[in-house]
Amino acid sequence: MEKAVIDEFVELVSIDAESGNEAEIVSVVMGKLRDIGLDVEMDGAGSKLGSNAGNVIARAGEGDPIILCAHLDRVKPGKGIKPVIENGIIKSSGDTILAADDISGVVAILAGLREAKKHRSLPAVEVVFTVSEETRLSGSRHLDYSRLLSKMAYIFDASGPVGTVVTSSPTHVGFDVHVVGQAAHAAVNPQDGVSAIQAAAIVISKLPFGWVDDHTTTNVGVLSGGDATNIVCDNVRFKGEIRSLVASRASELANEFTGTIVCEAEARGAKAEVTTAMEYSGYTIDRNAPVARRIVEALRKIGITATFESTMGGSDGNIFNANGISSIVLGTGCQLVHSTREFIPVSELVASARLVESLLSVS
Ligand SMILES: [Zn+2]
Repeated sequence: MEKAVIDEFVELVSIDAESGNEAEIVSVVMGKLRDIGLDVEMDGAGSKLGSNAGNVIARAGEGDPIILCAHLDRVKPGKGIKPVIENGIIKSSGDTILAADDISGVVAILAGLREAKKHRSLPAVEVVFTVSEETRLSGSRHLDYSRLLSKMAYIFDASGPVGTVVTSSPTHVGFDVHVVGQAAHAAVNPQDGVSAIQAAAIVISKLPFGWVDDHTTTNVGVLSGGDATNIVCDNVRFKGEIRSLVASRASELANEFTGTIVCEAEARGAKAEVTTAMEYSGYTIDRNAPVARRIVEALRKIGITATFESTMGGSDGNIFNANGISSIVLGTGCQLVHSTREFIPVSELVASARLVESLLSVS
């Protein structure tokens, strides 16, 4: 299996598929799924989210299915990837990412399905390959859930070695702030101006950054404003986020931040408008839930002990869980993702494929 897995990985990362441009890879994986013997369709998400292809949904077998999921898109720089294989490690040539995030998941699912089919006909399974995951989980957000029968899903899209089982992920609230001051000439009549830059600086200095507690982080990551040094600036925008494994904590902090921002801006004679929006809601899966028990058993069968983890990142798992599908995210062994130093050991690709096969053989 090792050579076939490497070949398919190289084939798929070599197809350009940055977010929004997944048409070619969608058509290739649809063909592969059909060849394995699944019924395959593409949903209409593409046109809703401005991508040139929709999510791929495939199914086989009779009975209660499980979902195997990975995403087809990748971050920039993800064009013209030329993977290099050295000493059992696959890496990029150094000028692009590798796209093991998340082609490792795609390849594991395809190879695992083929292995499972060697021994018997495929059990009940649904495969979901999403598009535009890297752009705010847009593909899974626009997925047509009415087409799915599964109550649980395994998403092959976490860093960490095979055996990593992510059972909780944070609620993520974004905030967008517009600080309005009063423009004036900075040297002729500065006394008539209210600097939105100074107000924003004071406001931001009152907000906590980084770890607020053991399960909560906050950040201001975007700031813009001002046109010239001789103008008292009257417009500043900044954006930030709050993530917490405790959903109520995220919304409490969002309210607290809004109050602080509005008050502190007012105290400087400026006005702040704050918009908050839930990016995605978090989840915590009980370790005794059927979806967790099944993965522990599937890992045990291939000689790997499950390592339960929580993540501070979002994935399609957040959207699946919010849509009532109990979902767990699994490590595929890729490392340093979203960087040109990204790499994956071949042994991890093979282990992920074995895990897919094992998941299909247990219940
Ligand atoms: Zn990913």
